[in-house]
Amino acid sequence: MGKKFVILVDMDDTIECLTDAWLERLNSQHGTHVTREDLTCWDFAKPFPTLTEEEVYAPLYDGEFWETVKPMQDACEVMKELIEYGHEIYIVTSSVHETISAKMTKVLFRYFPFIDWNHVIVAQKKQMIRGDILIDDGVHNLVGGDYVKILMTAPHNRDYDAEANDMIRVDSWEDIFQVIRSLSESSSGLQVGHCDVCGEENTEVVVCCSTCGAESFSYCKKCLAAGAEPYWPLVTYISMAGSRRDDINDAYNEIIDKTLNHLGIPEKRFWGDVRAVQ
Ligand SMILES: [Mg+2]
Ligand SMILES: [Zn+2]
Repeated sequence: MGKKFVILVDMDDTIECLTDAWLERLNSQHGTHVTREDLTCWDFAKPFPTLTEEEVYAPLYDGEFWETVKPMQDACEVMKELIEYGHEIYIVTSSVHETISAKMTKVLFRYFPFIDWNHVIVAQKKQMIRGDILIDDGVHNLVGGDYVKILMTAPHNRDYDAEANDMIRVDSWEDIFQVIRSLSESSSGLQVGHCDVCGEENTEVVVCCSTCGAESFSYCKKCLAAGAEPYWPLVTYISMAGSRRDDINDAYNEIIDKTLNHLGIPEKRFWGDVRAVQ
């Protein structure tokens, strides 16, 4: 019942672990001992003062290197679940053109086969892309964007004050799932209040139009799922159409049945109340 979103998802260090593979490659190739803790800023070359910039970035241009990039934990399962729920997912990556092909075949389509090329957007300026949410580890991709900003924690952004900059920080795909679920529910009008059907107080309700006409009521999740309507408004509504089951069409009899079953009210009492208000 939640709202469906267009979710933009960054690739490097959001759905896969580029940093880990890259560090491992450079360390084994050049005998360095740089760890994730040493990466304090976006510039990957900084903790490698003995290497040239060309040496640092060389792996990204090597197709075989991408074979060693592994998916991030739970990314696949959570994205699949979000898609099944009805959200649309687009991968938005700011890769340089030389690396795109290897990155797609050796990482994206290999580990996330449910995402096709029609759901990939290559963009250096992600703020130009329209979507409801962007999940990204790069602060510069989130700042100024017209989307809900979810910042995936990475070594280079761990000291950044996400909250002060209108971003939601997450540490895992499990976190992402929770954040999107609650955004989806709150955007759909779910609020805490009184259920007009069962009368429960302080419960999560959604305010929506009754199936019996142009009137809105609050429904808790259980009553909404049961297809039940508030009792007295239903009595009044039905009383205008007739005074016994045969007077009412099948669709309305079904609403009556669902409501009475859900509330545990005998049918005899219902029709008595209908005749009483006529
Ligand atoms: Mg990234
Ligand atoms: Zn209820």
